[in-house]
Amino acid sequence: MTDIPGIVITGASGRMGQMLIKTVLASDKCRLVAALEREDNQWVGQDVDAMIGGQATGITVTSDAVEAFAKAQAVIDFTAPAATVAFAGLAAQARAVHVIGTTGLSDDDLKAINAAARHAVIVRAGNMSLGVNLLVRLTQKVAAALDEDFDIEVIEAHHNQKVDAPSGTALMLGEAAAKGRGVSLKEVSDSGRDGMTGARKKGDIGFSAIRGGDIVGEHDVLFAAAGERIVLRHLATDRAIFARGALKAALWGQDKSPGEYDMMDVLGI
Ligand code: NAP
Repeated sequence: MTDIPGIVITGASGRMGQMLIKTVLASDKCRLVAALEREDNQWVGQDVDAMIGGQATGITVTSDAVEAFAKAQAVIDFTAPAATVAFAGLAAQARAVHVIGTTGLSDDDLKAINAAARHAVIVRAGNMSLGVNLLVRLTQKVAAALDEDFDIEVIEAHHNQKVDAPSGTALMLGEAAAKGRGVSLKEVSDSGRDGMTGARKKGDIGFSAIRGGDIVGEHDVLFAAAGERIVLRHLATDRAIFARGALKAALWGQDKSPGEYDMMDVLGI
C-alpha cells in the first residue's frame, strides 16, 4: 500500500481541489495523504468526505503544509500565485513532485518556481488536458505555415468567478503561435482592447476574453485573412480532464531528475 505515491491536494475546497481529491481517491495508482487548506478555512479539522460527499476517507483537512508535504511523493496544486510560490519551496524541501496548475503567475513567481526546480521535479502547465496540449502543438504548426496576412486571435471563455485574463491556456496558445511565427509574444501581444484602439497591427497576436456563468473553459485560435478563416477549437465541459492530466503528471514525475517540465513532456507530444 505504501509503495504507491502519496499525494497532497492543496486548495482542497476549491473547484479544482475537490475534483482532484475525487480523482485521486478513485485511482489505484496513488493514495491521498493530505488535503490542505488555509488556516481559517471552514473545512479544516473535518474529514475530507464532509467536504466532497461520499465515503469516509480518514483524512482530515489540514492547514499544516510542512507536515502534509513530509508525507507526500507529490503535491498537486491549483490555488493562487502567492500560495503556489510558497508551496514550491516547501515541496522542494520535501523532494516531492510539485504539479502546478495555478495560472496568473508573474515573472517573479516564475523565477521563484524555477529556483525550486533545482531541487525537485516541477510540472507546470496552464492547462493539463490532453486535448488542449494537442491544440497548442497544432497552433504552432499552423502559425508556422501561414504568413502575417493571417491575423491570429486567441478567444477564450470561462466562468464568472475566474480572476485572471487572458487565461493560462490562452497564453499557452499565444506563445505557441508566436513560436510558430518565430517572434516573441511579448512584442506582438495585443490584449484588453477598449475604446479608440486604432486598426489592428499586422503581425499582432490578439487575445479576447469572455466571462460568464459556469463555462469550464473554451478556446478558439482564429487565423483570419482576406476571404478565409481557419478556427482551431477546444471545448472543456468537465474539470475532470484537468484533474486526470495533473494526476498523470504527478505519477510521471516520480522517476524524473529535478527540473521544470510541462505537459508536453508528460504526454510525449
Ligand atoms: P478556486 O475554486 O477559487 O480554488 C482555489 C483554492 O485555492 C481555494 O480553495 C482557495 O482557498 C485556495 N487558495 C487561494 N489562495 C490560497 C493561499 N494563499 N493559501 C492557501 N490556499 C489558497 O479556483 P479554481 O477554479 O479551483 O482554480 C484554481 C487555479 O487553477 C486558478 O489559477 C485556475 O486558473 C487554475 N486552473 C488551471 C487549470 C489547468 O489545467 N492548469 C485548470 C483549471 C483551473 P480559499 O477559498 O480559502 O481562498
